[in-house]
Amino acid sequence: MSDCIFCKIIDGSIPSTKIYEDEHVYAFMDVAPLTKGHTLLVPKQHVKDLLEMPEDVARNLYAAAPKIANAIQSAFNPQGMNTINNNGSFAGQTVFHYHLHFIPRYDETDGLKVKWETKQSEFTQDVLKSVGEQIREKLNQ
Ligand code: AMP
Ligand code: ZN
Repeated sequence: MSDCIFCKIIDGSIPSTKIYEDEHVYAFMDVAPLTKGHTLLVPKQHVKDLLEMPEDVARNLYAAAPKIANAIQSAFNPQGMNTINNNGSFAGQTVFHYHLHFIPRYDETDGLKVKWETKQSEFTQDVLKSVGEQIREKLNQ
């Protein structure tokens, strides 16, 4: 896609710090890292987000993910690692070419605050059943 910054990174017309490349995927350092080693993995095929991703693109993308994670782990020995994918502006997506963030975690002050505020009390077993059924119906269409 001609005006996509990540397509331009993949074709080399915009510079990047490449980590890994194969026929299907490209991985490079995030230019504004949250932590040391923050890496992005993208499919070479332009796909806007997870919702538009064909199965073969997903398969090839995730096939590379453990390699990237293990390389980051070996290089810096973080205490943990978050892999995050933002879909849609509301969820924080700013570049509309699918990318998976690898964010190694070092300590409480490393810049990523992941706070889960569970709504478990609202989602009784009956509600969960009904919500699950609504999703299952869509999978079976
Ligand atoms: P998101 O907010 O999930 O869409 O993430 C987009 C990410 O792309 C951000 O973390 C940016 O720092 C990163 N980014 C944007 N432009 C570049 C670039 N030219 N090279 C590397 N990373 C980039
Ligand atoms: Zn693109």
